[in-house]
Amino acid sequence: MARYTGSACRLCRRLGMKLFLKGERCYKEKCAIERRNYAPGQHGQKNRKVVGYALQLQEKQKIRNYYALMEKQFRRTFERAQNMKGVTGENLLSLLERRLDNVVFQLGFASSRSQARQLVRHGHIQIDGRKVNIPSFEVRVGHAVVLREKSRTNAVILSNLESAGGRGIPSWLEMDRTEYAGKVVAVPSREDMKLPFQEQLVVELYSK
Ligand code: SF4
Repeated sequence: MARYTGSACRLCRRLGMKLFLKGERCYKEKCAIERRNYAPGQHGQKNRKVVGYALQLQEKQKIRNYYALMEKQFRRTFERAQNMKGVTGENLLSLLERRLDNVVFQLGFASSRSQARQLVRHGHIQIDGRKVNIPSFEVRVGHAVVLREKSRTNAVILSNLESAGGRGIPSWLEMDRTEYAGKVVAVPSREDMKLPFQEQLVVELYSK
């Protein structure tokens, strides 16, 4: 599966917000947004008003990059959200939040979504007792997301679990650190997700 291999911090600076793409670094002073909170490039410091189509496009890019997806994957998720009952924008965010790589990140097994994707790909994660190595797998209510027994001595994962305590876990997830096991306890509502996005703008963009 194709993925973006350019500078992560450049994306944050271009979109004017923290996308938390680099793990621990994002929470420290070294974060590029903390040091240079303006767009990259020669004209980055010019004040530009973003309106209309550009605003919609920018919002879509923010959400897409936050979950580290390519356009095709993101569009496919949007189409699924459109075919579901309820508000399309909220459905979209709910589907993105319940991707296995995001759940693994939120539970604290990984320090970033891209690292979570690698953990899933490398077979460290089980769902309801079965190994699942598909990052886009949709985790449903009641699914138990567990670190495989042989991965419980992995120093990187253990250190992630230790430092993730400060990040907190969303209300729609439960985590038992002693058992290395998490669970989805509810479909996240818009209030539960606490995401700084205007998802309606994405719906408007794709409805053109
Ligand atoms: Fe974005 Fe993290 Fe880089 Fe900060 S450190 S600019 S949040 S990727």
